[in-house]
Amino acid sequence: MLEELKKIEINAREALESADSEDALQHWHSKRLGRKSALMGVFNSMSKLTKEERPEVGRRANEVKMALEAVYEEKVAALKRATIQASLENEILDVTLPGRARARGRLHPITQTMRKIQSIFAEMGFQVYRSREVETDEYNFELLNFPKHHPARDMQDTYYTTKPGVILRTHTSPGQIHAMREYTPDPIRVILPGMCYRYEQVTTRAEMQFTQVEGLAVGQNITFGDLKGTLTDFARRFFGQSVRSRFRASYFPFTEPSAEMDIECFVCGGEGCSVCKHTGWLEILGSGMVHPTVLRNGGYDPEEFSGFAFGMGPERLTMLRHGITDIRYFWRNDLRFLEQF
Ligand SMILES: [Zn+2]
Repeated sequence: MLEELKKIEINAREALESADSEDALQHWHSKRLGRKSALMGVFNSMSKLTKEERPEVGRRANEVKMALEAVYEEKVAALKRATIQASLENEILDVTLPGRARARGRLHPITQTMRKIQSIFAEMGFQVYRSREVETDEYNFELLNFPKHHPARDMQDTYYTTKPGVILRTHTSPGQIHAMREYTPDPIRVILPGMCYRYEQVTTRAEMQFTQVEGLAVGQNITFGDLKGTLTDFARRFFGQSVRSRFRASYFPFTEPSAEMDIECFVCGGEGCSVCKHTGWLEILGSGMVHPTVLRNGGYDPEEFSGFAFGMGPERLTMLRHGITDIRYFWRNDLRFLEQF
């Protein structure tokens, strides 16, 4: 039996020499030290030995087992060291180099402005009303009190589809008619953000495609005071609590009376500079009380209902806030510009 143990140990050590991978080592371990190994067979047949043989064989078998476990562990550790060494040599990794910054996406500056406008009006109880960009002439002009041949149409030439009377909207105002016809006779408080199109010479101040955010409030006993209060509060929340504003009489076909709203120039503080064209004021939006004809077209009786409406250009507001001098940057897809916001 002792002779047999000696042979088991020699064979096992020899076999371990040629095991040079993790798999081979595992295989070796189960074959030489596992439950069905020859060594375990010795332990299992101890009962067949004489009383005199047993202690000596038992001691030797344990010694062999411990010795084999020890060389096995050593070999596993050596293999691990070799693997690390190889990877250090093959993959040159300098841990002192700075990490590579991941390119982060961001929202377009116009989207940021739109969202800011929307969240301010949402706090005042206005809901977002989405309306289509392809419109009929009727909704884009006629129902908004721009009859055919009305001179105000000249300021808003647009793109026409091959279907007569179907155009790309020149403003978000047709959405006001859609909203009124949907909600009548309930009161309305909505804002209408979206893309608009005009057939226009592209310059530093005008694009043929731009966004608008309009607002509409319709109900009983709505006055010009509500318009002023709402828009003055908006200007404070958007430009800062200390901003001063004023209303100037203006003209739009779909509101009566109409007014344009200015804020005090935040570049020069009202003293006059090139941004405000030396007036001290910056125009930020147009507004007015909804024209009785438009109310009627929306399904509301102007004797009973009144309302106010306003509209602003997120491009213009973004340009004012950031001192951007050319509107064409917004569509240029130039990362040097876009990454500044
Ligand atoms: Zn100024």
